[in-house]
Amino acid sequence: MQQVQTPETLKAQVLAWQRDGDVVALVPTMGALHEGHLGLVRLAREVADKVVASVFVNPTQFNDPDDFAAYPQTLEDDAKMLADEGCDLLYVPNGAAMYPHGFATTVHVEGPSEGLCGANRPGHFDGVATVVSKLLLQSGADKALFGEKDFQQLAVIRRLVADLNIPVEIVPGPIARAEDGLALSSRNRRLSDEERAIAPQMNRILRETGEKLTAGADTSILPESMQAIEAAGFRNVEYLELRRASDLVPMSAADAPGRLLVAAWLGDVRLIDNIPVAAKG
Ligand code: AMP
Repeated sequence: MQQVQTPETLKAQVLAWQRDGDVVALVPTMGALHEGHLGLVRLAREVADKVVASVFVNPTQFNDPDDFAAYPQTLEDDAKMLADEGCDLLYVPNGAAMYPHGFATTVHVEGPSEGLCGANRPGHFDGVATVVSKLLLQSGADKALFGEKDFQQLAVIRRLVADLNIPVEIVPGPIARAEDGLALSSRNRRLSDEERAIAPQMNRILRETGEKLTAGADTSILPESMQAIEAAGFRNVEYLELRRASDLVPMSAADAPGRLLVAAWLGDVRLIDNIPVAAKG
């Protein structure tokens, strides 16, 4: 696996592959890789001929400086895991390559970035939209893969690619979970043993709530589910909301295929999850 640091070397290699007729897929990450990321790399190998992964802990998408400082950095392990999965190229830009002196542009997406994580993490999706725009344009990849774990992020990126006519196909990947249902996340490694034992309750309650919504309940049941998550040991449920799966428009009942999305704090760790909710019969 090649490893490159500059946008120029990245673009030159991607162009060379494309001239040979290869389809190139990009898997952007912030490192501290786990099975969720590796699943995206495997999917990328199925839908493309060459796979590029990037590792960049993007400072501008952290609204909380403590979260940025505590974000795990494990580049050596990451590179080994990616090579073992058959990734062809790892792009590890430094801060100066991404945000050179004088950098002054922010990509702001309205619509799908409103509410949910957008309301609780001011500036987060501006940081995501800006860095993802840069990675897509720097690489010139034909396809880019993003996990449904960050469902709102996926909706924001689809919107931005359509609105800015960025010539790339966005490919979603399913959520990778631990056996007990906890969605895999780089932040899970910051949970204590006690917190790790509580963590899967969020997904359990999410699934029970989703079943009730599909059975015909409306969203007036959601406050009770939020209380149940807090009673399980979470300290603050930021949101639990039913949205239309296609465009994240709020819904008061499962009148169309939906997505139930949650964010809650367990100790010092903020966890998110979401599940599909079938339309009520
Ligand atoms: P991150 O490194 O957290 O920025 O994530 C990089 C990519 O991996 C994003 O597209 C995430 O949605 C995706 N991802 C993270 N965790 C998971 C997971 N448990 N299942 C599927 N995709 C994931």
